[in-house]
Order: sequence, then C-alpha cells, then structure tokens
Amino acid sequence: MGTVIVLGSLITDLVARAPRLPLPGESLIGDEFAIFLGGKGFNQAIAAARLGASVTLIGRVGTDTFGDAFFPVLSTEGIDSAYVTRDLAVGTGVSCLIIAADSGQNVIVVLPRANRAVSAEAVETAIHATLTQRASPGEVGVFLAQCETNMAALVSGLRVAREAGMTTILNLAPIPREPLADDLFALVDILVANEIEAASLAGITVDSSATAKLAAEGLLVRGPQHVIITLGAQGAVWSTYEIAVRQPSHQEISAISVTQLDATAAGDAFCGALAADLAGGMTMEAALRQANAAGALTVTRPGAFPSLPTAAEVEALLDGCDS
Ligand code: ADP
Repeated sequence: MGTVIVLGSLITDLVARAPRLPLPGESLIGDEFAIFLGGKGFNQAIAAARLGASVTLIGRVGTDTFGDAFFPVLSTEGIDSAYVTRDLAVGTGVSCLIIAADSGQNVIVVLPRANRAVSAEAVETAIHATLTQRASPGEVGVFLAQCETNMAALVSGLRVAREAGMTTILNLAPIPREPLADDLFALVDILVANEIEAASLAGITVDSSATAKLAAEGLLVRGPQHVIITLGAQGAVWSTYEIAVRQPSHQEISAISVTQLDATAAGDAFCGALAADLAGGMTMEAALRQANAAGALTVTRPGAFPSLPTAAEVEALLDGCDS
C-alpha cells in the first residue's frame, strides 16, 4: 500500500434549487436545499484511499458544525485526518450554489475561509511526521496538491515533499487568483490540468488532443517533468520532455465509452487514482490507465465524493474493456 499525502481543501457545498436564477435584488422562493461535503483536497484524498493508498490529508476547517461533519467521513474512508486542523477565528470553507430548474444553469460563490489559513510550517510538520510514521524504507510516496489552499502552503508542501524524495503532483485547479510563484513548476513532477486550466495557463484554446499537445509543450518548458491535460469525454494527453532526443513526446489516452450522468469530480477521481497507483509502484502508463477508468466511472454516478470508485470497480471496468 503506497503512501499518499494530500494537501488540499475541505469545502461544504450549500446547494439551493430554484425555478430560475433570481434577478439582482430579488428574493426568490426556491424548491430544495441540500448540503454536501466537498473540496478538491477532500475528494482527491477519498479517491486515492478508495484506490488502495494509505492517505494523509493536510487541511484546515473551522470550529463549527460544517467542519465537524468531515471527520467521520474521513475516518470511514480510512484517511488519516490528524493534520486537518481547526481554526478558531475563521469558519469552514463553503460554496454557495444556486441551480436553476428552467435552464440548468447555476451560479456559485466559493469562500475558501479556513482553507486559506493552512500554514507553511504546519504542512512541513505534517509531511515529516507522516513519512516517519507511515512510509516503509525505500518507498517513494506521492504528494498531491491542488490550488484551493494558499500559495505559501502549496509551495512549502511541494518543496518539502520533493526534498523528502516524494513524487509531486500538482492539479492546477482552480487557476489561483494570486500570481503563480516563479519556482512553483520546478517543484512539480507531474502537472495535471483540464482543458480550461491548460488554456488559461498556456494562453491558447485547448479543445482537442492536438491543441492539448501544443499547450503541454508550452507548460513543459516551465519545469514539470510530465504534463497531463484531461479532456473530459475526449480522454487525456500525457506529455513528457524526452531529454535524450531533446523534444517532447506525447501519448493520447482514449476515454472509455460510458454514459455520462454527472461530470462532478471526474478530475478529482483522475488525480486521486493517479497518485494512489504511482504510490503503489505502477508505471506512469499503468497508473494513467487506472486514472482514466476512475474518471469514467465517476461521471456515470451522481454527486461528488459518493461517486468515486473503488479499486475493484476500476479493475472490473478495465477487464470489461480488455475482453
Ligand atoms: P475536470 O473534472 O477536472 O474538468 P475532466 O472532465 O477532464 O476533468 O475529466 C477527467 C478525466 O475523467 C478525463 O481525462 C477522462 O479520463 C475521464 N472522463 C471525464 N468525462 C468522461 C466521459 N464523459 N467519458 C469517459 N471518461 C470521462
């Protein structure tokens, strides 16, 4: 069982369904309300744990009932939550969604709150302590992060993980509001971005394998060893800089044909599975095959973390594809 350390967000989704989107200044009577647990860090930690990794999540929630709700779920999923700390001053991150029945459109306001208060020192302590307690001698663990915490914690996490010999994966989602630190990409072994994030970073439209390859080439020169651009129902492209031939090489990963019900958390499933399988000793090629299947399974089910598949489900889907 490989070690995966996830640095990331825990966010409570507050979802209101209404007949239509309210107009500015209008109070509209809605139809339904629900609360869901989410955040890219939380989802990706669960995705990695369900794929068989030994997972530690580093994050921060408030001292409120929203924060309380995460711990029993992390415990059920077998995730070490010792480094999900509680903030006395700032509440748990929330995301407020309004979904309109007439158009299917939604509006979302995300408030990261306690997620922004994860300190660089806390991240360093958590990584060292986890590796001391968990990793077996000679094991190369995987460090996985996204961009919903703060930049100082993120850079510290990547640096400390790198120094400790871990493989570092950065899912560049969402594109941060603050400028990316200059040295960020040099600390990343594997950069994962979807088409919107890749386009924003590379400054070109990304909507196909061909344009993803172009964007990846622009991103590889900034420092990561591998760039993976996910393309939803079009699969993904894995790009690497081949030192021997001094040029990038690309491999297309075809999506598995499934009936999409709800695309939420496909990217989280993909990143969590990739991290778990690399930590478990798989090659990049094999881990990407699993990640592709995990993403495909997730879109066939409703919701975020409940839709994330187990290792057995991923194996069953891949066995079906082979036969
Ligand atoms: P994000 O959720 O970050 O936007 P994507 O939508 O690109 O991420 O999905 C991540 C991965 O999940 C894809 O690269 C692919 O492997 C898988 N996937 C997503 N949507 C589908 C789909 N409709 N059919 C099959 N696989 C899918």
